[in-house]
Amino acid sequence: MVKCVYCGCELSDERVIEVCDKCGGSVWGEKMFNTIVHNMETARANGDLCNDHVVREIPRETESFREF
Ligand SMILES: [Zn+2]
Repeated sequence: MVKCVYCGCELSDERVIEVCDKCGGSVWGEKMFNTIVHNMETARANGDLCNDHVVREIPRETESFREF
């Protein structure tokens, strides 16, 4: 079972990121969050992403968007 790291709500096992749409939208903004999810889906499709990496990847993804 996958749970949102922020609010703890249950997410689909298919979920590539352990954050729900609601929390993701409020933390990164809807557009940025969609980009992060898309990047993770691409990474998973390439087979170089495992569950342990999901949370650690998030801060690095947001670094270059601090100027917003
Ligand atoms: Zn949530």
